[in-house]
Parts: sequence; C-alpha cells; structure tokens
Amino acid sequence: QIASVNPATGEVWGSFDESGEQAVETAVASARSAFRGEWGRISGDDRAALLLAWAARIAEAVEQLAWLETLEVGRPIADARALIAQGPLLIGYYASLIPALDERSEGAVRRPRGVVAAITPWNFPTANVLIRAIPILAAGNTLVLKPSELSPRSAVLLAQLASEAGLPPGVLNVVPGSGHVTGAALAAHPGIDMLAFTGSTRTGQAIIQASASRSIKPVTMECGGKSPQLVLPDMIDQPEIWPGVFHAAFWNTGQWCAARTRLLVPKGGLDAAVEGLRAAAADWPVGDPRDPATRLGPLASGRQYETVQGYREIARQTAQVVPLSATPGADGFYAAPELALGAPQDGALVQQEIFGPLLAVQEYGDLDEAVRLADDSPYGLGATIWGADRDATDRIAARLSTGSV
Ligand code: ADP
Repeated sequence: QIASVNPATGEVWGSFDESGEQAVETAVASARSAFRGEWGRISGDDRAALLLAWAARIAEAVEQLAWLETLEVGRPIADARALIAQGPLLIGYYASLIPALDERSEGAVRRPRGVVAAITPWNFPTANVLIRAIPILAAGNTLVLKPSELSPRSAVLLAQLASEAGLPPGVLNVVPGSGHVTGAALAAHPGIDMLAFTGSTRTGQAIIQASASRSIKPVTMECGGKSPQLVLPDMIDQPEIWPGVFHAAFWNTGQWCAARTRLLVPKGGLDAAVEGLRAAAADWPVGDPRDPATRLGPLASGRQYETVQGYREIARQTAQVVPLSATPGADGFYAAPELALGAPQDGALVQQEIFGPLLAVQEYGDLDEAVRLADDSPYGLGATIWGADRDATDRIAARLSTGSV
C-alpha cells in the first residue's frame, strides 16, 4: 500500500496498491495481445475516431480530473482546469496527423513499434500522461503506463475514459506503483519495444541502465533543466517584462523542467529586478490550491518540500535572499517565491535543478559574459531573452546552446 498525502494539508487522504512485477507482466502481455489483435489491424480512420471519442470523454471530465490534480499534487484548481481543458485539443491535433502516417514516402512505409512503455512524473499529472499516450496510440502502438506514485488516480481515470470511449482492451494499460518496484520492473521488461521517460535526470540515468539490463530498446528521455532568462540592457528598465519573468520562473511553484530559474541582469540591474518581481508577485497569491484565486499552490510532496528547504538554506549561506511574498502559515508543503541575489556561478543554486520557487539572480558585465554564464550549466533545455531589438535577440539566441529559446 502506498499512502497519498494532500500537499495543502500534509494529511494522508487515501492509499493504493503497488502493482508490482506480476501486474507489469500481465499488462505487457495484454498490450502485446492487443497489438497482435484488433488494434494492430484497425484502419487509421478508425483509430482517429476512437481517439476523438476519448477526447470527448476527457472534455466532459475536466472538472473531475482537475480536482484529482489539486488533491494529489496541490495544483491550483483554476490552473488545473485551464491546462486539462487543452487535453482534447492535443488529441485532435495528433488525430489529424494519422492520415499522413499511411502515406508512402519514397517507397517506405511507417509501422508502429509495438508495445511502448511510458513512465511519467507528477508535476502535470494529466498533461504528462496525455503528452506521452496520445502520439504513442495515434501511431498505432499499445501502451503500458506507470504514472508517478503521487498521481496515480488521474492516470487511471484517463484510462477508464478511454475504455468508455471504445478503445479496445489492452491498448492503454496503467500500472500504478512506486518507481523502484513497479517502474523498475517495467523499465527492465524485455517485452517492451520502446520506452519513454519523463522525470528527473538522475532517475533517467537509472532507467536507461535498467532498460538495457535484459534487452536493448530505444528510449526517449525528457529530463531536467536549469534554464536562464537573460535581460538585455535595453529592457532592464521596462516594467512590463517582470510579470513574464515571474511567470517563467515561478509558475507551478517552480516545478517544471523548463522553468527559467536563473535570471541574468546587466550590472546595476539588481534593484530593478527586485522591485519588478516584488510587484509581479502581488498578482500571484500563494495559498490553498482549492481556492480558485490561488495561483501558486504548495509543493507537491513532503520530499519535495525538504529538498527545497535544503536549497533555501544554501541560499541563506551563499546569497542575499529576498522573499517575494509571505508563506501561508497553514500546514502543508508551502514555499513562497524567493530570490537569491548574487548566487555564485559554481554553486548549487545556479548549477542544480531545484524544482521549487527559488530564482537565482546574477549580474553580467558585457554580452559575451552573459552568454557564457547562461550556457554554464550541465543542462541546456531552454532559455528566454528579454530584449527590445529582435535582430539582437536572434543573434544572442543563435549563440546559446539550448534546445529552445
Ligand atoms: P521525483 O524524483 O521528483 O519523484 P522521478 O524522476 O524520480 O521524480 O520520477 C519520475 C517517474 O519515474 C515516476 O513515475 C517515478 O515513480 C519513476 N521512477 C523513479 N525511480 C525509478 C526507477 N528506479 N525505475 C523506474 N521508474 C522510476
């Protein structure tokens, strides 16, 4: 049994069973037989129709899914509603791509891989599952999904809705459980044709190793980040940038891989940053995620809370800490947004992914230094440039070694 804790209160509100190795065995076998059976032979049009029927069921269940996210990971209810409402649109998009899969290009035909496994994290329970499941199913594969132990219920509900929409048995299988038992059994299973993982970099490394222990299969990894925001000298005095800087750093209480958690400002720009971000914070109330006015909820788990407290302590020792709003006095895993001014480049606050509301702020001299500091991290997921001159920002973007700018 795995306990579920409400991050808004710190109280246990439910529990669920670990699926374990035997259930993984059953799920992989059922995915294989669905792939060899009806799902493997179904036309692209019929596949698209079933996915669209699933989208319609999800659209009817937005409220239910949103409350599950709020309860499971403390996501503010208004935010959860808005994000989950986009799920059906994503299904529509992938369904529209299905006809192109059947076109031959230079004599080549596209075939599904077969049984795909996905292991997903807790930071966006519904979106993380959908982003994996939709393209996998649209391309004609079957799926065994291991959602995070913090958010199993939304994944189970999504599968239930798929079943109600007419998806054949065995196409979408969910095995709730912990990473080290159920997740590990799934990653290592030789009956999986491909593995997709979203989560922390350290877990990603363990999963790549486990995935190769009994067979070799392709893996896709979507892991951590420590992405910079670079404010150019022509923008530092523009007050309208700060709501955007704040959003990029603190949305979802900083718990997303592409959060822009390092801020680089020109020398002398610290005061403008503090003033601008303080003003922006007033529009982001921190509080109970069940309150529709809340924009920043608690951290998702006690473990995440401890991790962030550790980094806050490092901030107190190595930087100048500026709280942007008050932490609610309630029980629960609350952490209000904070700045760490002058955090050292080689220190933990600049180099490590925190996954919490702590923004490291640094000054740069010239643009060469700005680019060097922005790139100096073990990650390279994304970056944001705030500048007034589009040609200049494009030139700097081309110099950054990041996946997206
Ligand atoms: P966090 O550390 O924030 O919990 P993880 O990256 O560890 O995030 O978790 C992402 C997903 O990976 C979750 O579904 C988790 O259960 C799973 N997981 C964690 N450890 C392992 C492991 N050793 N093998 C397989 N899956 C794992």
